[in-house]
Amino acid sequence: MTAPNHGGYRCLCPACGEPMFIRKSEKQTPTFQTMYGRCNNLVCGASYVGSLTWDYTLSPSGLPNPQATLPLSPAKERLQAMRDLAPSANKDQLTFLEQLDQEATA
Ligand SMILES: [Zn+2]
Repeated sequence: MTAPNHGGYRCLCPACGEPMFIRKSEKQTPTFQTMYGRCNNLVCGASYVGSLTWDYTLSPSGLPNPQATLPLSPAKERLQAMRDLAPSANKDQLTFLEQLDQEATA
């Protein structure tokens, strides 16, 4: 689970919902990392191992790496990214492109 945090992201504990501390991350490939996290809530104290994976390219790099070439995202993922990256106040409103997409698929 993630939530906005000063332009970055933070992981929230699956058990109690408090922020997690990422103790360590190991790069397995340029697009896949293993992460070890511990809940900051002393009463909870859970710890987890998980992964961070980059799935698609939304906008290609100006410095392409052949080992990190990901497929271009399908239109559905691009629309979801636009929605997720938009300021939270606009999340309930359809963007112009989303309206076009809905009209095209209706
Ligand atoms: Zn917790």
